[in-house]
Amino acid sequence: MQQLQGFALPTQDGFFGEYGGQFIPPHLKAAMDEINTAYEQIRHTAEFQQELSDLFQHYVGRPSPLFYAKRLSEQLGGAQIYLKREDLNHTGAHKINHCLGEALLAKYMGKTKVIAETGAGQHGVALATACALVGIPCEIHMGQVDIEKEHPNVVKMKILGATLISVTRGTATLKDAVDNAFKEYLKDPENYIYAIGSVVGPHPFPKMVRDFQAIIGDEIKQQSQAQFQQLPDYVVACVGGGSNAIGAFTAFLNEDSVKLVGVEPAGYGLDTTQHSATLTLGKPSQIHGMACYVLEDEQGQPLPVHSIASGLDYPGVGPQHSFLKDLGRVEYTTATDQECLDAFMTLSRVEGIVPALESSHAVAWALREAPHLPKETKIVVNLSGRGDKDADYVAQKLGL
Ligand SMILES: *Cc1c(COP(=O)(O)O)cnc(C)c1O
Repeated sequence: MQQLQGFALPTQDGFFGEYGGQFIPPHLKAAMDEINTAYEQIRHTAEFQQELSDLFQHYVGRPSPLFYAKRLSEQLGGAQIYLKREDLNHTGAHKINHCLGEALLAKYMGKTKVIAETGAGQHGVALATACALVGIPCEIHMGQVDIEKEHPNVVKMKILGATLISVTRGTATLKDAVDNAFKEYLKDPENYIYAIGSVVGPHPFPKMVRDFQAIIGDEIKQQSQAQFQQLPDYVVACVGGGSNAIGAFTAFLNEDSVKLVGVEPAGYGLDTTQHSATLTLGKPSQIHGMACYVLEDEQGQPLPVHSIASGLDYPGVGPQHSFLKDLGRVEYTTATDQECLDAFMTLSRVEGIVPALESSHAVAWALREAPHLPKETKIVVNLSGRGDKDADYVAQKLGL
């Protein structure tokens, strides 16, 4: 069981226990298998590893600091809180880690175009950045409704040279953008590659994206030994699709002393329909080519979901998280929109760090729990991104 928890999974077919796999039509399965084969060959070559690690260091700015939030810890009067500063990465979040991996893989595979969907535009901007750097054309599909909502990210993608495709069918949001992008990809899977934005979708994406993000936990492990001579007692991260969380957790899956906590959005409350707490309230099903926990109605249709953080409102979740929940290795819990807003303001005012609303869910957990834990306890909160993108919204919401 021990070794089942780390890099040993998924199985060759892409399963984490009963979750994951490839629930997709045969022609798409062939394309995914080709990506998997290439990835398994390329990722072990010294050339690929060297190029990726150079970029992590000199382009992204890794290792990202592990910062002791002294004032915050003192104010709360309990456990000591450390922040893993993924918000300081180039482009301001953890997504650049897997986008660079995917763009480099595309280059090594000789692909001529990288295709992806984006919701709020965060994945689109990170991918457009990586593609500009690597020198591969990039095509981002985005719902027209989202395009109108997310103006700064739309403009950034254009500046970075991405081709932006406006999707007007259906509800003109994320789900329609996914359908449209897959359709384009399937026109020429030999020359195109699809780049998924989290540890979701058909095999091999949950594995690949996890591998590229695992550097977060590797660094936390080294930094905690160097800074406080032990492993953390808790590693905490927010969970949307689950990429920043699995990145922070992977190095610790076999370290039984380290408690792992994933925080999902409870939105307006778990007793309302306005949340996105997939692992907490969903059930095992299928979505977007994978088996995982899903929030769905009686007819098996994905439910509309809500979070104050647009990067977290997804009715599915990574298959490895689904597996880790059933195993009991990770505790999945929630924070409401209100707790998240409070955490956003508290961290800004006590430490001078403005967190993304997504990351604020993990901060909210620390604010809630730290006062009840002994002073020797060390909590590492993965600060997945910075909150500049959310500043206007929060100011308006709070009347600042
Ligand atoms: C996209 C995003 C998330 C959610 O994605 P995961 O795959 O769950 O990590 C979290 N934080 C930030 C800052 C994001 O941009």
